[in-house]
Amino acid sequence: MAINWTDAQIEEIVKKVVAEIGGEPKKEAPAYNSESYNGRKFIGIFEDMNDAIEAANAGYKAIRSMRVEEREKLIEKIREMTRAEAEIMATIGVAETKMGRVDHKIAKHRLVADKTPGTEDLISQVKTGDCGLTLTEMAPFGVVGSITPSTNPSETVICNSMGMIAAGNGIVFNPHPNAIATSNYAVDLINRACFAAGGPKILVASVKKPTLDTANIMYKSPLIRLLVCTGGPGVVRAVLASGKKAIGAGAGNPPVIVDDTADIQKAAKDIIDGCTFDNNLPCIAEKEVFAFDNIADELIAGMLKNGAYMINAAQAEELSKIVLVDTKNPKTGIVKKTVSRDCVGRDAKVLLAKIGVHVGDEVRCIICETNFEHLFVQEELMMPILPIVRVKNIDEAIEKAVAAEHGNRHTAHMHSKNIDHLTRFARAVETTIFVKNAPSYAGIGFGGEGHTTFTIAGPTGEGITSAKSFTRLRRCVMADNFRII
Ligand code: NAD
Repeated sequence: MAINWTDAQIEEIVKKVVAEIGGEPKKEAPAYNSESYNGRKFIGIFEDMNDAIEAANAGYKAIRSMRVEEREKLIEKIREMTRAEAEIMATIGVAETKMGRVDHKIAKHRLVADKTPGTEDLISQVKTGDCGLTLTEMAPFGVVGSITPSTNPSETVICNSMGMIAAGNGIVFNPHPNAIATSNYAVDLINRACFAAGGPKILVASVKKPTLDTANIMYKSPLIRLLVCTGGPGVVRAVLASGKKAIGAGAGNPPVIVDDTADIQKAAKDIIDGCTFDNNLPCIAEKEVFAFDNIADELIAGMLKNGAYMINAAQAEELSKIVLVDTKNPKTGIVKKTVSRDCVGRDAKVLLAKIGVHVGDEVRCIICETNFEHLFVQEELMMPILPIVRVKNIDEAIEKAVAAEHGNRHTAHMHSKNIDHLTRFARAVETTIFVKNAPSYAGIGFGGEGHTTFTIAGPTGEGITSAKSFTRLRRCVMADNFRII
């Protein structure tokens, strides 16, 4: 005889059994991989990159016939589901990559949901004159091929997708292999959201196992009309050499200058807040400080009050040998120091433990005084280690900060009330983002005005990318007509 238990009855039985055997039911850790999450198979994930491209192309064709207002519904649903599933993506992101912090990753997903522009970003232009009317509209490219990093994996997939879909494109991703489960979770979320809001079953696609070969298929496919790459210098170079129209969002090494007119206590807190956001993974985060000598002690004292831990020169040397390792270029044979992947995005206390210093969670940043040549200043560490270099005056501060930025023209920060100093540094450093008197994340709309992005395209000039960056301009001319005057 079949018994139809109600949910309440089942729950009651489970409670009784648990009470008898003692303890709470064991909570299984969520199972995730590049194809599924907790047994739910992802939509839009393919073995073969060619199939992924075909699927995204079919999705693109499907949304071509959708009205802008219908496309905006897809974006709205993506916002809603990103907010609802932010915690899941943040948790898998940290578990899979071993980098960053769950609470900060949740905040990053909410930022993407709230402040990534949708279709309102697309503005048509009209020119009228004696010869009639000319209309310029922002059209989709077709299928966009996007390469995404391990540092903000799902954030970048979602932010890119929102802008690219708002612009009317389909998308195929070749995500970072070390963050493939997190990235493909986001791909699946976009497809679930779009389908639920009236879109095609697959609009965004990815592969089960991304490699350099799958990236190459993407570069060469005639169906891919635009490449968008967010990552380090190597991949940006590769994409720009592809022969296709490409948007490159590359590496940074953001310097911070603090002069003696700044509100020093606020500067200390802002710098530690920005530097430690998601354990320094964002490319915009403060990476090295140039402090006027006459305020440096006060600045350091303020940082110590805000969760910083000061190490001495010997400890900095010891730590640098752990976080920077010799790596041989397989082509040239040249050995260069590169950041250890085992240290990127790790908690300050984990890094300190590597040199025998044991602290609690209250320590969120490691600070040290170094000279300008120190590798902590020169290399983009992407971990909560902040070197501080003393400078005599604004001339030395600007010269050294510009040199430490290495011409990336990515992001720079300054704490000062002297307008001349602020203006001089902004002009000299020529970065895409320049933040004055705030933590770095104000530059991407977190506590600052303006929209957000996780693809800051310095090398190719689109800047803080949004839907309009993923469009091509098309002109329609009506000669001698269509005017009302
Ligand atoms: P990474 O450069 O290691 O990888 C980025 C992506 O490129 C990955 O998907 C990787 O698999 C792929 N890749 C690497 N070499 C490739 C090649 N030759 N051809 C095709 N694909 C290739 O980046 P990461 O470590 O995940 O991210 C950190 C870097 O990205 C930092 O330098 C950071 O500053 C930069 N970044 C920049 C932005 C921005 O908006 N400008 C945003 C995030 C990260």
